Amino acid sequence: MRAEARISRHFDVVVVGAGPAGSAAAVSAARAGLSVALVDKARFPRHKLCGGAFSGRAVASHRRAFGTDLPAAPHLTKNAITFGAFGVDLGRYDDIPPLYLTMRESLDLSLFEAALDAGAQDFSGHVPQGIDLSGPRPVLSLGEISLAADVVIGCDGVSSAIARALYGRPFDPKEIGFALEVELPEPQTPPELRIDFGAANWGYGWVFPKTCGTTIGIGGIHARNPDLKARLATYLAERGVVGRPNVKGQYLPFGAPRRIPGRDSVLLAGDAAGLVDPITGEGIGHALESGRLAAEAAIAALSEGDPKRALPLYRRKLAPIHRSMQHARLIRPLLFQPRFQSAFIAGFRRSRSLKYEYLRLLAGETEYADISRQLARRLPHHLWRAFMKNGPKRQETEPKTP
Ligand SMILES: Cc1cc2nc3c(=O)[nH]c(=O)nc-3n(C[C@H](O)[C@H](O)[C@H](O)COP(=O)(O)OP(=O)(O)OC[C@H]3O[C@@H](n4cnc5c(N)ncnc54)[C@H](O)[C@@H]3O)c2cc1C
Repeated sequence: MRAEARISRHFDVVVVGAGPAGSAAAVSAARAGLSVALVDKARFPRHKLCGGAFSGRAVASHRRAFGTDLPAAPHLTKNAITFGAFGVDLGRYDDIPPLYLTMRESLDLSLFEAALDAGAQDFSGHVPQGIDLSGPRPVLSLGEISLAADVVIGCDGVSSAIARALYGRPFDPKEIGFALEVELPEPQTPPELRIDFGAANWGYGWVFPKTCGTTIGIGGIHARNPDLKARLATYLAERGVVGRPNVKGQYLPFGAPRRIPGRDSVLLAGDAAGLVDPITGEGIGHALESGRLAAEAAIAALSEGDPKRALPLYRRKLAPIHRSMQHARLIRPLLFQPRFQSAFIAGFRRSRSLKYEYLRLLAGETEYADISRQLARRLPHHLWRAFMKNGPKRQETEPKTP
């Protein structure tokens, strides 16, 4: 039987999940003078399965939310990258915009501490046991403590309990991605940063050097990769990894953004809103950005005296990220569909713009809309029309009525 809540607290904003999205939401709301509870089932530092690549996009989003370029966490800076595609080596590229390689344990700890420093109250180590969205205000029961909120921001990742409370389940596993990763304590020789398109079906593999070892993984659309473990074994063997490192896996909500990320005064941000880039697999940058935007929507709705305005305000703020994701889904087949593989390899080798656009994208210097405009100019007209016709299907799951 569930313990009855004995202490009741009220906050302007309750943020559930203290990863990049949650800490960005909490820091933004707290700095605006709102009372904020930051809830996480874990205590920090905690492990998070992730490559930990912190791109230029993430730097820009971090600056907007926290006010500094880089989090106060150790990282390795890399200015060169090696690409492969479908088993073919595409070479090394030097002088790329910097990519920062972090360990999530320390990255997330530093973000979480910044949110607490800004005034958010620490409810880490608490799992919401009951989420009641039926009353005039959302109420979360954390066992003996119950938290009532004007606005709830669900930043609790790919298995979001807040999304489950809204929609019945966080995602359709057939729609999203899955990734497997190993963390090796030793550096690879040479300690290169590497991305291999097609190491998984409709996905890629990565080798990310870190300050304390190497992270190697592969990820792709879950439904298209029933043999992901075998593919990882092949990828590790190709990288010269011997032995049987500990393999961990997690769903990756890439390519399935929620069209309506919440209901009334309950908002979803980061992975809980499906905001992982469907081509690069990056999620930290959009998590930071959407967390901040959700907080801004909450601040505006509360200043209007109507918490339920939070969702429409948030949707407007999130529209550019949603548009970018739609463009990315549109051009994703060009990179990953088997019939385009040889054209992709030849194009990537030959064309300065294709690989540099990819790097500029990671650096946050361009957007998918610009890339798809360039493609529209370059591709034969009939091919582009075929893409436009088969454009991305959105996840249309609407919130269920409580
Ligand atoms: C294998 C792998 C590799 C990746 N590599 C990269 C990469 O290199 N670069 C990149 O940008 N992105 C990468 N991503 C994606 C990235 O990890 C996510 O997009 C990012 O962590 C999303 O941040 P978030 O704050 O939304 O969620 P999370 O980081 O998942 O944080 C969610 C938080 O919510 C808490 N939580 C969960 N459930 C509950 C609950 N019921 N109650 C309370 N708290 C809860 C968790 O403890 C956690 O602290 C990778 C993902 C995977 C799986």
